[in-house]
Amino acid sequence: MRLETLTVHTGRPVEPGTSAVTPSITLATTFERAADGSFAYDVYTRLSNPNRTALETALTTLEGGTAAIAFASGQAAAAAMLHSLSTGDHVLLSDDLYHGVRHYVKEVLARWGLQYDFVDMQDVGNIAHALKPNTKLVWLETPSNPRLKIVDIAAAADIAHRVGALVLVDNTWATPVFQHPFQLGADVILHSTTKYLGGHSDVLGGALILRESGELEARIRTLQQLGGGVPSPFDCWLILRSLPTLPLRVREQARSAEKIAFYLSEHPRVELVHYPGLPSHPGHAVAQKQMACFGGMLSFQIHGGQAEAFAMIAQLKIFTRATSLGGVESLIEHRASIEGADSPTPPNLLRVSIGLEHVDDLIDDLAQALG
Ligand SMILES: *Cc1c(COP(=O)(O)O)cnc(C)c1O
Repeated sequence: MRLETLTVHTGRPVEPGTSAVTPSITLATTFERAADGSFAYDVYTRLSNPNRTALETALTTLEGGTAAIAFASGQAAAAAMLHSLSTGDHVLLSDDLYHGVRHYVKEVLARWGLQYDFVDMQDVGNIAHALKPNTKLVWLETPSNPRLKIVDIAAAADIAHRVGALVLVDNTWATPVFQHPFQLGADVILHSTTKYLGGHSDVLGGALILRESGELEARIRTLQQLGGGVPSPFDCWLILRSLPTLPLRVREQARSAEKIAFYLSEHPRVELVHYPGLPSHPGHAVAQKQMACFGGMLSFQIHGGQAEAFAMIAQLKIFTRATSLGGVESLIEHRASIEGADSPTPPNLLRVSIGLEHVDDLIDDLAQALG
């Protein structure tokens, strides 16, 4: 079956018993067991719950994996992946990646003896140079946040696998509609389902999806069930509810983003546009090879510095000044000011998440704000 059909039907069977066409929300935290201690489905909602199982089934199907493990946020999923490693292991991460992951590695896991390096993976040769005998995980984010760097997943996976390291791809920005990391050799896919999968800026969630079941799945399942960072049944229901419209939403958002990227790239007040759909983007050829579409996210640098960036976003009327992404409303954000003191993001960079408004209204809004 094709993706559009899967997004409508996976994890959403007509309910036995009630014949309800959409799933019910099971709020029970505990489930009756037989006198001999056996049980049919669920025991306790931290361990499993019908809504979470439905969401995990859907995410497994959409990414073409064998298992998905859902968490209360993208960060909880990222933390579980990192905690599946051991003291003394080394992890190699993209230098431009979600700042929460960078901070978690540097501020928390370094104290537990995790070794790490951040490298620019646009040149996969840098991965080869930075690998160590104890490298257990290579963490790719492509397109990356916030500079939309593109990493060649197949080439990176090839290099990492030669030393036996696992490859994780944060597929939050590309979504399963535009990019299929398992087909390119990745072992684990991370999603912040808060973003495009949830799609409406009203639910927090995360997931790890695995290409193969086995020891890693068991480890991560343990971290989910004993760590306890699980999503609520309602959160799972909301994310599942958003999946049928995912392909429609992200294709429209990507269409608009591409138009806006071209518009901005020709504007005299714009110094640089980061969008892999632009032929001038350093990752354009790789993105064309590994993505079906270039996505709904872009960032740009305005001539000047932070003051010019702040002055421009003060004038916008349709774009909302807010962090996060992937919702139906267009958002714009001065990224350096949220990433903290060690942010490598240029002070004149603005990150944009394109929503579902008419693209011409969005361009008009940018035009009047740029002046
Ligand atoms: C938002 C985001 C995360 C973190 O997810 P939360 O749901 O906010 O915890 C991780 N990776 C990427 C690429 C993100 O955009």
